[in-house]
This record gives sequence, C-alpha cells and structure tokens, in this order.
Amino acid sequence: MASQEIEALSGALARLPGLGPRSARRAVLWLIKRRETALPQLLKALTQVQELLVECEVCGNVDTTNPCGICTDPRRDARSICVVEEVADLWALDRARLFTGKYHVLGGRLSALEGVRPEDLTIGQLLTRVGQGGIDEVVLAMNATLEGQTTAHYIAERLEDAPVRVTQLAHGLPVGGELDYLDEGTLAQALRARRPVA
Ligand SMILES: [Zn+2]
Repeated sequence: MASQEIEALSGALARLPGLGPRSARRAVLWLIKRRETALPQLLKALTQVQELLVECEVCGNVDTTNPCGICTDPRRDARSICVVEEVADLWALDRARLFTGKYHVLGGRLSALEGVRPEDLTIGQLLTRVGQGGIDEVVLAMNATLEGQTTAHYIAERLEDAPVRVTQLAHGLPVGGELDYLDEGTLAQALRARRPVA
C-alpha cells in the first residue's frame, strides 16, 4: 500500500494526457528518488505556470501577457489570421516560422460524437475579429481529420459574406514520406491537391 501522499500525486499525474495510472506511479517514484534535484525544478516550473501564464483574450494563446506576445508584435501581419484547433497547433506552426500573421485558437473542433457545438468553440470571437475589419485573409489550419475538416467547412461557410479571403492548408505528402507508408486519406488528399510541375 502506497502512502496517501503518493496516491494523491499519482492520481493527479494520471489525469494528464498520455499518462495512465501505471506511468504516473513510475513518474512519482522517479521524483521521490530525485527529491533533492529534479523535484525543486518541477515545483518551481509548476508555480511559474500557475502564477505567470494567462490566456490571451484576443487569440486564445497562452502567454505571460494578455494580449499575448504574438498579438502585440508589430512585426507580425495583422491582416492575416491563422485559425487553429489548439494552442499546441499554434506553437507547432510558429516553431516552423512560416506564418507571419496572427492566430486564433478555437479551443477544439466540432464533434457530433463528443457533443462539441460551434458555441463551445471561439468561432463567435473569430467572426467578431473579422467583423471589426482590417483583415484580408483567414487561413484555416485545422487538422486533416474528419472533425477538423468539418470545422473548417463550417467556419468557411460562416465567413462566406465577410470581405476576406478564406484559405486552407493544403494536405499532402509529408516531407520524407514514402507513398507506401501513407494512409489512403493522405494519398487521396495529395492526389486531389495535385498541381502542374513547376
Ligand atoms: Zn493573442
């Protein structure tokens, strides 16, 4: 029988995405063994996250300021908004440094199965942002899943009458991807999005 304290920490860790009860217990034991070294670092990092991080009221990003660093960065193109499902997607795109505009985080994707409706996401806020003007292009960067694409279609429809260009990420062959290893959906998308050889 583990002590109450260990049970409490294991229980809390087991609720994290990707961690089940088994790996949570292993993480707790790992931390106990490194009580003097790794644990203080973790505690400090957790405290900082709790004390310093806030959600940006404009775009939904998580940062130490509200509005966030991306929203207030004058070097970024405010006329272009890239819409993503989750903050992790924003970070992934921004790490790639390919998009120089601003972002909008939906907080998920539409899902009939999980009962996620348009009003559960920040679609209303996106429409308001677009309605305020000054935006030329909305890039829909949803995941290449059925639900992601349903969400993209829904938003595109809602923006139909807005004076903006609505574009979508092209889905295709991953860099380094061999045809043999791709699933049918990816292959079909790649074929549909084919273009003349440059
Ligand atoms: Zn922001």
